[in-house]
Order: sequence, then structure tokens, then C-alpha cells
Amino acid sequence: MIHFNVPPFVGTEFKYMQEAVANHKICGDGPFTHRCDEWIEKRFGTKKAMLTTSGSSALDMAALLCDLKPGDEVILPSFTFSSTANAFVLAGATLVFVDIRPDTMNIDETKIEAAITEKTKVIAVVHYAGVACEMDTIMDIARRHNLMVVEDAAQGVMSSYKGKALGTIGDFGCYSFHETKNYSMGEGGAILINNEKYIEKAEILREKGTNRSQFFRGQVAKYNWVDFGDSYLQSDLNAAYLWAQLEVADEINNNRLATWNRYWKEFQPYAAAGKIDLPVVPEGCVHNAHMFYIKFKNLEIRQNYIAFMKANDILVVFHYVPLHSAPAGVKFGRFHGVDEHTTADSDRLVRLPLYYNMDPDDLQKIIEKTKQFIDSL
Ligand SMILES: *Cc1c(COP(=O)(O)O)cnc(C)c1O
Repeated sequence: MIHFNVPPFVGTEFKYMQEAVANHKICGDGPFTHRCDEWIEKRFGTKKAMLTTSGSSALDMAALLCDLKPGDEVILPSFTFSSTANAFVLAGATLVFVDIRPDTMNIDETKIEAAITEKTKVIAVVHYAGVACEMDTIMDIARRHNLMVVEDAAQGVMSSYKGKALGTIGDFGCYSFHETKNYSMGEGGAILINNEKYIEKAEILREKGTNRSQFFRGQVAKYNWVDFGDSYLQSDLNAAYLWAQLEVADEINNNRLATWNRYWKEFQPYAAAGKIDLPVVPEGCVHNAHMFYIKFKNLEIRQNYIAFMKANDILVVFHYVPLHSAPAGVKFGRFHGVDEHTTADSDRLVRLPLYYNMDPDDLQKIIEKTKQFIDSL
């Protein structure tokens, strides 16, 4: 069986986890947590990075830091994982879904402005497949309408837009280190705080509402419960696991890119012949090979392809069921404008196996079987 995903593992994870145990420091904010936070800050250029227990909890923190009131509106794509939406539901906001562009499957920046009302407070963008949204346009809209921007960069670690790392462009960026992502600690994530004025608030929010971080820095004599908070601290054991992978981040990235480029080269002639559609990486965007997908002509062909591959012991998967058509999406939000591409294009999309260190024979088999299927159309 060729799996859809195998979590990244580079070999030094256990050594660092043992070190964490030997340090007698396995809770949050230990030496490995700090190493990971600092690595993210330096490598990507953000004011403050904080590891969290998941990408979802990084999004929760970002949404809570936006200080929304009931009835405030958040604009986001419907073609995304539920976590993007849940965070703003938790924060009390109403969701306003906007259509995506079919080339990148990202929010269509030309349709955002029409969805803005006097209640709009935030634009939440999702960099699908680690390919950037059109951030210059989106940041310009946000500035003109005084909105905050949250980047769901769960899939975008190591990607960039016009030289800026994804997650460092809006007010907040959210990374995921789930086992299905490019770098992993099982469950985990990080929030990137690009606007300095939120750093202290974020520290309090993730330290159960206390100013413990200030206390540890010697800025206050004792720590106290100062505001609402929760626990978003990642364990240092998990951070040790992640650190092993961040140390070789470029190697992992290059390995994934090589696989992605191979898929693209092999399937490009079929796309040129109009039989399938392939991902588009716009100029100025550097991606991280988070995902390789194919779009077939319609849902039926897509489903046939999944069944054909499964019969050949290869697992390929589709996602997402558009949020605006899901029960919770109906309850918590509305779709603004016409759903031209969200449903139609999600119906056609299928993801191919892509993970660190894929077996070349497996890759060859996936390519051959896929070509065989397309040839039969
Ligand atoms: C993976 C993912 C998340 C959630 O991350 P977790 O670490 O699994 O909580 C959120 N948004 C997007 C777009 C994702 O791909």
C-alpha cells in the first residue's frame, strides 16, 4: 500500500527528546521551545513566534487577539479546513465566505471588497498548498478599510510572497506542525505576531491569563491573573522533535520540491492537452511543495480516479467539502456573492501522495498508474 502521507522523520528526533528529558524540562517554554521560536523569528522575519499545541490553537489565539465582538464579521474562503472558521466562531464573529480563484484555489482578492460591511473586522486568508494569496492587494484592502489580516499559513511554512515569508505579512500568521504538514511534531503549531503591540497580550493569553512571561523575564515581582487566557503552550518534548526537523528544513524542503517538480513535469503534457488542470504558482510566489493536486474535468472522473488508484494500492484523497455548504457553515456564516469556483473546483480536485523521502519506486508507480488512468479517459 502506498500511503497518502508519512510523517516526516529525520533521525535526530529521539536524541533531542532524550535531551529534553535529561534537562528535566518537558513542559512548555523550555530550551527546545525557545530554539524553535527563535529559529522561526530569524528565518522568516517576524517580531515574535510562539509554538502552540496545534495550528488550530494558533488560529484560535489569532482570532481572540483580534478582539471581536458578537456580530463582527470575518471574511474568509469557504474552501478551507474547518479550523480557519472555528477560530472566529470561538471569538464570537459571523463568517462571510468569499469565492476562490481557480488557478491557486486561494481566496479571490477581487471579490473581497464587495463583501465588506461596516461590521467587517478581519480578513482571514488561507495560503492553500503553500502557494501565497495575492497579498499586496489584500493588505491594501485591509489598510483602506482598517481591517486586521490573519494568515492561515498552516500549509505555508518555508513559502514566500515577493520575498516575504508566508505568515509574516498580516497581523498574525499561523503555522501547523501536524503530522500531515511539511515539518511535524505530531500535533503542534505556531503563531507569528507581526504587530508588536500584540506580543504582551499574546503571552498573557497563552499563559492561562497570567503575566508569567513578564515574571520570568524579571519585569514584574510576582505573577498574577490579569486577563482571560488559556493554555496554548506546546510541550518541550514535542518541540525537541520539531527542532530536529527545523535544523534540516532546507533538505526537507528540497526533497519535497523535487517530488513536486517530478509530478509536474510528468503530468504537464496532459494539462497542455486539456485533459487535466495542474496547480499554478503565480509569479513572485515561492512555494514549499506542501501539496500536489490534479483537477479532473468533473466529480465523477475524480471519484473514478480515486477508486482506480485504490484498486492499485495507492491512496489519493480529496478535500475540502466547502464550509458554506456544511451544517456548521450554514449556522455560523453566509456566502457573499456567487459560488463560481469553490464548489465546482473542489469537486474536481484530488491530492497525490507527497511526503519527505518518498520511495522512488512508489513515486514511479503513482505516476505510471495516473498516466494509465488519464490515457483511458
Ligand atoms: C492543517 C491545517 C490547519 C490546522 O492545523 P492543525 O495543526 O491540524 O490544528 C488549519 N488550516 C489549514 C489550512 C490546514 O491545512
